[in-house]
Amino acid sequence: MPIGSAPKLERKLMALKIYNSLTRQLEEFVPLHEGEVLMYSCGPTVYDYFHIGNARTFLISDIVRRYLEYKGYAVTLVQNLTDIDDKIINRANEQGIDTSRLAQKYVDAYFEDSSRLGIRAADVHPRATEHIAEIIALIQTLIDKQAAYEIDGDVYYRVNHFAEYGKLSHRKPEDLLAGARVEIDERKEDARDFDLWKKSKAEEPWWDSPWGKGRPGWHIECSAMAMKHLGETIDIHAGGHDLLFPHHENEIAQSEVATGKTFARYWLHVAFLQIDGRRMGKSESNFIFVHDAVEQYAPEAIRHFLISAQYRHPLDYNPTSLSESSSAVRRLSNCIDALGPYRDVEEDTSAELNDADAASLRDGLDTMRQNFESTMDDDFNTAGALGAIFKFVGEVNQFLAATGDQSSDVGRSVLSQAYNSLVEVCGVLGIYAEEEGASDEHAALTEALMTLILEVRQDARQRKDWATADKIRDQLDALNVELQDSRTGTTWRIIKGGR
Ligand SMILES: [Zn+2]
Repeated sequence: MPIGSAPKLERKLMALKIYNSLTRQLEEFVPLHEGEVLMYSCGPTVYDYFHIGNARTFLISDIVRRYLEYKGYAVTLVQNLTDIDDKIINRANEQGIDTSRLAQKYVDAYFEDSSRLGIRAADVHPRATEHIAEIIALIQTLIDKQAAYEIDGDVYYRVNHFAEYGKLSHRKPEDLLAGARVEIDERKEDARDFDLWKKSKAEEPWWDSPWGKGRPGWHIECSAMAMKHLGETIDIHAGGHDLLFPHHENEIAQSEVATGKTFARYWLHVAFLQIDGRRMGKSESNFIFVHDAVEQYAPEAIRHFLISAQYRHPLDYNPTSLSESSSAVRRLSNCIDALGPYRDVEEDTSAELNDADAASLRDGLDTMRQNFESTMDDDFNTAGALGAIFKFVGEVNQFLAATGDQSSDVGRSVLSQAYNSLVEVCGVLGIYAEEEGASDEHAALTEALMTLILEVRQDARQRKDWATADKIRDQLDALNVELQDSRTGTTWRIIKGGR
């Protein structure tokens, strides 16, 4: 069979299996609507920068989405931003600023850092504070169905109302308490009951509601925003393993009681990143912020490290992890760059393979494609996919070293197929940056040109030529380049995505 790019329809016929936390089984993935995938992923609570442990979850959602697209599905991904929460309120109080200002600062930081990691923005990034009406309507539905009750301005979910509570976390009712870390609240009917709406304390941000001034609980926002942007039943719900209970258990309880329908059909949970056997986390103070990591390592190297284990397995970080991943992605990009000159050679997939070396390389390519797909189809086993890619990189390097420019026409055609295939599969994982050198050069040129422009503006200011100085600032502003003057000089930054 001729190789090269397998038609997308064929890819879709090969079964993708996903481990569903709900059933604790590998299940064949069949979306609700043929050819389409509705996916929701729990996003960050924006009170701080995010670390590479958090990044693992966001990156896996990104790769799941890219692989589903590779298989020919049209994917709609929604990832929320929790922009009102106790942590946000506390941090804003510490800094003496508004919660909305604090949240916006870390929303911007989230987009800046995630885009530097090559994580594509979701189709929708809904914010809790922009969905208060939907949240209130959902809480009202739950009250109407006797699944929630109000006490003195607080609204609680009545866990006892939902017989299936615990089905995701597979916990028995007596075990549910231990994990819920509930504050003792004598007013609640049952200690497991959780907040849907919180009455605001003095100095806290609030919104009007039928129950007085307050703010939404964390769990209800995800149910409301997922259903608003994706509908009552979604295909895949993803999140970090720490969210399985109680957050996701509560999302199910709220949504399924409100609609009477299945909320999410496949639940996907990403295991922790660990350091010395402990989870990387803010509470453990052992984390590495993404914005620090990207100063030291290429985004492709960080991605390579974060997907070097299948997502359901804990991944261990040690001081050499990122340097090892750096050498791996360098080896990969050297190989693909060496194939670059063959990229436009016409692919002749039907040619007689009278060149034994080329025939063997084509077999290697075929195997790489098959193994990439079979490992990714096996619950997104990125570790296996990397193995397939790097084995083939070794074979390409060997072929190039042995034949180099002396390749036959057939050999050149196989090299062209190898280039296109590697770029495509590495694009799914985001571990190869095309023309990396060129973008480095552009960055250096931008830096030099900005220094020159700022010097010209400084000269103009010194001779009190305000018209020229202002013109430079205004024109840069129009290009989304913001200048910041201080006593020590002028700095500049590019406003991501414009104003
Ligand atoms: Zn959530």
